[in-house]
Amino acid sequence: MAATKLRIAIGQISSESNHFVSAPCELSMFRHTGYLLEGNDVFDLKGSGTEVSGMLGVLAVASDIEVVPLLAARANSSGPLSEDCYRYLRNELIGRLRHALPVKGVLLSHHGSMAARGEDDPEGDIAEEIRRMVGPSVPIIITHDLHANVTRKRVEAANAILGYERYPHDDVFQTGERAARLLLRTMRREANPVIGHAKLPLLLTAFNASTAWDTPYARLMQAAKAMENERGILSTSVFFVGSYIDVPDIGCNALVVADGDAELAVRRARALAEIFWDRRREFQVETLSVAEAVRRGRRLEGGPVLLLDTADTTGGGSSGDGIGLVKGLLETQVGERCLAMVVDPEAATACAHAGLGAELRIHLGHKLDPVWGKPIRVTGRVVRLIDGQFQYSGGILGGRWATMGCSAVFKIGSIEILIQTYPTYDWADEQYRAAGLDPHTAKFVGVKNMMNFRFGYRNIMKGFYVLNLAGPTPPDMSMLPFKRVQRPVFPLDNGLKEVAARVSTSRPLFG
Ligand SMILES: [Zn+2]
Repeated sequence: MAATKLRIAIGQISSESNHFVSAPCELSMFRHTGYLLEGNDVFDLKGSGTEVSGMLGVLAVASDIEVVPLLAARANSSGPLSEDCYRYLRNELIGRLRHALPVKGVLLSHHGSMAARGEDDPEGDIAEEIRRMVGPSVPIIITHDLHANVTRKRVEAANAILGYERYPHDDVFQTGERAARLLLRTMRREANPVIGHAKLPLLLTAFNASTAWDTPYARLMQAAKAMENERGILSTSVFFVGSYIDVPDIGCNALVVADGDAELAVRRARALAEIFWDRRREFQVETLSVAEAVRRGRRLEGGPVLLLDTADTTGGGSSGDGIGLVKGLLETQVGERCLAMVVDPEAATACAHAGLGAELRIHLGHKLDPVWGKPIRVTGRVVRLIDGQFQYSGGILGGRWATMGCSAVFKIGSIEILIQTYPTYDWADEQYRAAGLDPHTAKFVGVKNMMNFRFGYRNIMKGFYVLNLAGPTPPDMSMLPFKRVQRPVFPLDNGLKEVAARVSTSRPLFG
């Protein structure tokens, strides 16, 4: 008789929310990414670079394991999930698990900075419900993006939480593998994970926080990873909360998973949090007006020089409808070839109706999220129309296809504006290239991104400047009107010196 296999459930709901974006995240946004997989369709992720793929790869090798696929859903960052959207995804994940019980282990993969209308902590809500369903002796292990806002509720419901180690995130697959390996060790009683978590009143923007070269954050990550060599430590994470969720319990945090020793886990998490706090001022960013950035860019030989509208980072949840850069370029009367992009479905449709070669006068930008500026009235010519399909050349979605919908290139003097119907995650220059625009041949290129450009454009950019434009993902957190965040918090309240991290811990599974 064949031995009974040990069943492990896998679920994922991943989106980074932004409370400063007007429109909520609807289910259609998960569908747009082509990443809303239910039940056995989750296996379609095999061979991809995702966390779930990493998990499936490790579990496939273990002959005594049966995977129970629940749901895998990922959407580009946007406003908080609507009630309907969250209820649907939660019910899919939880309902499928209820139907599949009993299981011997649970793997969850969430971004970790998601919010829903009426629920500040969806990942905590899901983890808590799953704990109720599976009981205290079934291990639950969660993976998070390193920009996750880990909460007490999650820590108390889970047995381990593992964050990405790299930013930009090129270790997504490996994070899934690490989680699956730890789960297998835990189920075989080779490890007894317990979480120590320390949260700081600290909100930072991610601009100076890559781990790919020598930054204060890279050094902090190295300190954390060195701790993994210490006796009794299973995993360490430092979460850089450059997240735009306006909830009371938000902040950068450190998390240590120890082997059965909660006191050790908390002590080491607190030590990492202290290093983080001491370096907080090193993450602040210099910003320039468009005119000043153009002036400095002209001193650099050749192009492209990137003009970074980080406040409108679609990968961070912005709608992409900011038009501040184009407005600034027009005011500066720039004569060099410039590329810019804006999400404006109404204008894209108007261009499509007018047809190729047509000259028209349109209102452009700031229609989806009018809080951050007013549309500009411009006259230009439609020089290209496309269906908006493109393939990512790298990053978290590397190799996957996406669409910006019906799009047009609208030319005003020397400025070519890619007008898109949908916002899309920004890795390199895929969107421009799909529209036949080659950044190589431009002096100034508008980029709505605060990190990936360093990789996507690394071989061609001559320089970059951060613009002081307003938007839901600004280069300085104090530019945002937070209302619910627990105060005081850095950098909204200055003069904070010593602070105590808020600490939480989970219970060991056994022993
Ligand atoms: Zn991230």
